[in-house]
Amino acid sequence: MSKRQAINVFGLIGRNVDYSWSPLIHNTAFQALGLPCVYTIFNIAAPELVGDALNGSRALGISGFNVTIPYKKTVVPFLDELSAEAEAIGAVNTIVNDHGRLKGHNTDIAGFAAPLVPLAERIHGKPVCIFGNGGAALAAVEAFRLHFRPSSVRLMVRNPKKAEAMLEGYAHRELVEPRLTSELDGPSGKTLLGECCVIVNATPIGTAGRDDAIRSVVPPGRNLLHEGQIVYDMVYHPLETPLLAEARAAGATTISGIEMLIGQAARSFFIWTGQQMPVETVRNTVLAEIEKSGAA
Ligand code: NAP
Repeated sequence: MSKRQAINVFGLIGRNVDYSWSPLIHNTAFQALGLPCVYTIFNIAAPELVGDALNGSRALGISGFNVTIPYKKTVVPFLDELSAEAEAIGAVNTIVNDHGRLKGHNTDIAGFAAPLVPLAERIHGKPVCIFGNGGAALAAVEAFRLHFRPSSVRLMVRNPKKAEAMLEGYAHRELVEPRLTSELDGPSGKTLLGECCVIVNATPIGTAGRDDAIRSVVPPGRNLLHEGQIVYDMVYHPLETPLLAEARAAGATTISGIEMLIGQAARSFFIWTGQQMPVETVRNTVLAEIEKSGAA
């Protein structure tokens, strides 16, 4: 990239997100393809500032954003247009600035679906289970509905009121069956999970550095996982969480959150640049960094 060339600026909108791997992912891809682009982090301290930030980006000509916790819904009223996916779940993780017109997309849905595509036949017509009732859980619900047609989605939550709030305004509410995580401690726990062909963790439990880093969403010592299941943890740090370690020991197929992380990033990259992300180069770079940080 020439030092005299104008640079297209992209960035991540979030709060306290200096830990993010997104700059590494996108800058590796820009460099590999020789694109005059750079990706940085925009920590926004409070929701009241999000509108100013987006309006400023129109004036400055910032090319695009990713959006993460806690602003995926906050950005919506400040955008000019939404993709069908973003509209379906009322959340945006990617914005493209087309000459001052901001369009919001949601690539978490396709990014979540990507590693499940080769396993699609195992999912069709069967129940699946998702732990969590945040934005990532809703993206997974929509991904299952759009791409895999399960018979139902069991949403494992601590608080049914929060599950109802998450599903408010979601057009396909009938697919989702909220269940309490406490049920897993009782006699029905084994069938509740055992009948599901996919089990997804869409909570931060198991993330390195947290108090619950050594925990799993599945209660220990009860053999609730089994061979033939697909266990998918959205947590990507560490690569093998306690949930995935237990699933591997039970003979289940495991999917690390790194696949979703790269999957959603590749789709954002395509929306911004019209080019395919060099996924293998990016994956190797991220894996090397994770190994260096001691969290593999
Ligand atoms: P969020 O909106 O903050 O939701 C977090 C969910 O986790 C809530 O349902 C919350 O339940 C539940 N939870 C938190 N702590 C819990 C605990 N100790 N026990 C039981 N449940 C707990 O976050 P999000 O955006 O949905 O993201 C969820 C996770 O997915 C995060 O770890 C995020 O990093 C990860 N993620 C990964 C990718 C990827 O590309 N791999 C993409 C998106 C998200 P309550 O409502 O009851 O508190």
